[in-house]
Amino acid sequence: AKRFKPGSPFFRLDKKPGMLLPRKGNASVPIDVQRKNLPIYQAKSQLINQLRQLHSAVLIGETGSGKTTQIPQYLYEAAIGRQGLVAVTQPRRVAAISLASRVAEEKKTQLGKLVGYTVRFEDVTSSETKLKFMTDGMLLREAIGDPLLLRYTVVVLDEAHERTVHTDVLFGVVKSAQRKRREQNKVPLKVIVMSATMDVDLFSQYFNKCPVLYLEGRQHPINIFYTKLPQSDYLQAALVSIFQIHQEAPASHDILVFMTGQEEIEALARTCRDIAKHLPDNCGPMMVIPLYASLPPAQQLRVFQPAPKGCRKVILSTNIAETSITISGIKFVIDTGMVKAKRFNPESGLEVLAVQRVSKAQAWQRAGRAGREASGSVYRLYTEEEFDNLLPMTVPEIQRCNLASVMLQLLALGIPDVMNFDFMSKPSPEAMRTALDQLDLLGAVEKKDEELVLTPLGKKMASFPLEPRYAKAILLSPDFQCSEEVLTIVSLLSVDTVLYNPPARREECLAARRKFTTSEGDHLTLLNIYRAFKKVNANKEWCRENFVNSRNMGMVGEVRSQLREICLKLSMKLESCGADTGRVRRCLAHGLFMNAAELQPDGSYTALDTHQSVAIHPSSVLFQGKPAYVVFNELLHTSKCYMRDLCLVDADWLVEAAPEYFRRKLRPTKS
Ligand code: ADP
Ligand code: MG
Repeated sequence: AKRFKPGSPFFRLDKKPGMLLPRKGNASVPIDVQRKNLPIYQAKSQLINQLRQLHSAVLIGETGSGKTTQIPQYLYEAAIGRQGLVAVTQPRRVAAISLASRVAEEKKTQLGKLVGYTVRFEDVTSSETKLKFMTDGMLLREAIGDPLLLRYTVVVLDEAHERTVHTDVLFGVVKSAQRKRREQNKVPLKVIVMSATMDVDLFSQYFNKCPVLYLEGRQHPINIFYTKLPQSDYLQAALVSIFQIHQEAPASHDILVFMTGQEEIEALARTCRDIAKHLPDNCGPMMVIPLYASLPPAQQLRVFQPAPKGCRKVILSTNIAETSITISGIKFVIDTGMVKAKRFNPESGLEVLAVQRVSKAQAWQRAGRAGREASGSVYRLYTEEEFDNLLPMTVPEIQRCNLASVMLQLLALGIPDVMNFDFMSKPSPEAMRTALDQLDLLGAVEKKDEELVLTPLGKKMASFPLEPRYAKAILLSPDFQCSEEVLTIVSLLSVDTVLYNPPARREECLAARRKFTTSEGDHLTLLNIYRAFKKVNANKEWCRENFVNSRNMGMVGEVRSQLREICLKLSMKLESCGADTGRVRRCLAHGLFMNAAELQPDGSYTALDTHQSVAIHPSSVLFQGKPAYVVFNELLHTSKCYMRDLCLVDADWLVEAAPEYFRRKLRPTKS
């Protein structure tokens, strides 16, 4: 492998002559021809024959070979499983939406007719829908009402190598549904597991040693570059690499940069755009496109549009572009080697989001994006030695996350012995027990004849598409006469942020926000914004003036009415607390008490659950203040362990929420 060293101003790039390639414009080739040009098309009739016969199959093929968009159509065209629906699961909602749009376009039908999608809080399907793209989480929710998944004749578990918690649980659920349907002489369920690369044996073994079908890929050679020295600042290294390539490579060669998250991506995008304005004349223009999961679908589709002639496309993406979304025209990949992922402490049950190193498998996936249409290059912003030290495979999420939601769902599915659920990769018994303890603290489970079952409260909790702690807050809200407010807050937390923070207008933005800020914390500040928004009747002008994202606010309204409907079905009495917002905080304390922190004499904070030192995130409205007790939504681990989204609470409320638990945790010095 060759090496290069990013540094200031720019390092040299080994140039190869004659690499100019005609760009395959997506728009210029008719969509039917595009379909036939996909590698999978060569195997179409063989695949149909195989899939017709098999009950379960594992299908492996390089990203971009056409698995996700074509397999559902092939099944439909060959009338396989026409009695019911074909479900195609995706780990990410944006992928589900964009893939459904693409397949509807290929089928020349309106989205929501033959081809539709279902993601949390959004259902674009109809009675005509036969091909249904959905998040893995949604299929799991449907399984609670219909454990045999009788609406479906085929379930395609896509992106299986990602091993999201939901997909991992679904493996067990579809496997058991398949078996039970056979035993009960019902319409059989076909299971197709699809993936780019993965531990094939593990999957085949788990699904009763089913056959593995390999798709011939189109992978061109890729030049791999490493840095000579470890980079302390991967963002700076990425920036340098982008402009190095931009100055030296033909404009039609697009660049894909793998980064860790929205904030970092937006910041680098701004820097790139600024620098691009001041380049010498011999440098062409640059089109910088961010790509991350919470981006609105319309903006996300921009990555598929070719750049104007003579302009270079630079895509700054999270790991979403590793396999879920395939972009043509990529000639260069820049891999920071980092990813934001969950990490979990099984003893405490605390889950943190942290930026960490990718696995080797991920690094290869990322590199592969550069060789789809012709040979390409990957710039790894780490040394070869660092690469050698990466973990070979990403640890499945189920082994590194809080399992409270999973356990609640398994119990709601009626699985008798959750500790012995047929997981493909078992989480540690410790982590499972911690999750059950948490559900116990929330009042969701009880022992009945030596068997763990859901309490009436637990059953109700499972009917909300929410984490157990938020479901609990909603369910308790009638006791505090503040359901309308708690519904609003939980809805606000369930969509992408409604706060619009353009860095160029920081001062203005802060001034506008001050009107809503309250020392009661972030939840109540959000509530104030929502209330003001309602008062002016969702006025767009108002949103602009107050730096509120009106589109996301619209989503909040939709989510809220769906959650409200569930409450009404449960015959809950929904009242507003008006100005008495202390009730809201008290109710939130009853849901979030496991995420509580206490101010220490030295001004720092300690998480009550783990006694770990935590700090208030600078984005919080409580950042300047020093409240004695807070509850928070999540922990983010960067330079410190930060609490994000905080709510001021009384110590008494915490004790009232879980007396036994806090008797052990609280500092005894307090009277
Ligand atoms: P796989 O699942 O094997 O990774 P896909 O079926 O997702 O492959 O993609 C096949 C091709 O379809 C990709 O090369 C991509 O260029 C194209 N494609 C997929 N989605 C879209 C979209 N929304 N717009 C334009 N092209 C798309
Ligand atoms: Mg795919």
